[in-house]
Amino acid sequence: MSAVLALALFSSPAPAQETPPATPASPAPQNADDARPAAVDPVVLQKKADDLRDAVADPGSSLYRLHADAGALFNNVQSQTPVRRPHARLIERENVDGRIGTLDGMIEAANRRFDAYKLRFNAPPPPDATASAETAVAFKEQGRADFDKKNRLTDEQMGVFRYAPAEVAGGVIELNRRLALIATRIGEAFAYSTLVHEATHARDRAAGKLSPEHAKDGEVNAFRVEYLWLTTMDPTGMRLIDLQLTLDDWTKRHPKDVLSAHALAYVQHLTALRQTGGEEKKLRKFVDDLGYEDDPDKPAAPTPSPVKA
Ligand SMILES: [Zn+2]
Repeated sequence: MSAVLALALFSSPAPAQETPPATPASPAPQNADDARPAAVDPVVLQKKADDLRDAVADPGSSLYRLHADAGALFNNVQSQTPVRRPHARLIERENVDGRIGTLDGMIEAANRRFDAYKLRFNAPPPPDATASAETAVAFKEQGRADFDKKNRLTDEQMGVFRYAPAEVAGGVIELNRRLALIATRIGEAFAYSTLVHEATHARDRAAGKLSPEHAKDGEVNAFRVEYLWLTTMDPTGMRLIDLQLTLDDWTKRHPKDVLSAHALAYVQHLTALRQTGGEEKKLRKFVDDLGYEDDPDKPAAPTPSPVKA
């Protein structure tokens, strides 16, 4: 885990602190020591220590006797239930149920996360994320968002916003069909990241801010909003880290599971995006590293990163 991500983890808004449960009305302990974890009784300790010394000094002691005596002295430290339990900490894990991703499913998953965010922080989600989410819904309802039925996207291109440079109106969102399968490994809420990215391109186009000559500016903004989505659906970043570690471990043990390898590449791409912290300069470098060019005739150059959008 990088320092940047670690920082993002702990600098995010935190949920309200749990209040400790009220102390039940129980009889007062007879003395203060009763309320503490049991300490070692010096009398018992003395007896056990003497026994062990005798056993060690006696050349006739068997290994089993020595082991038993040493165990009686040292091995029971944790045999008592601690009086205080450690502070409970919820590990947030993405619920991945193996469902194949659909646009409706992704949108539903996104809506649930927007609601959860409002409930958790008692604040509206980032406006740019909700605006792009609304565009995604509108495109879906207008039949202008779908999976790439003609299979025109390359393997590493997870989505595209297609528009005619001569026309201001129009444009369609296409998602790579592979994303539907990747969703079986990462869940629809993470897969939604590409949809919100393409919807941001669509918004920018409608606002007259997207052109082939400024492709990189368009990518920076789309990835910025995609970053905002990630922080909305996974405020602490725990879900993303857990998913990446799980997939990393799984693919090492199951090298023939190609789909999980694709899912891991997608998650690594999201992690790299998360590590920008949504900062303009870092987002620009992120886009450069992905090989995007401000040239309508030149598609994004091949790079080591297996995911583009
Ligand atoms: Zn893009």
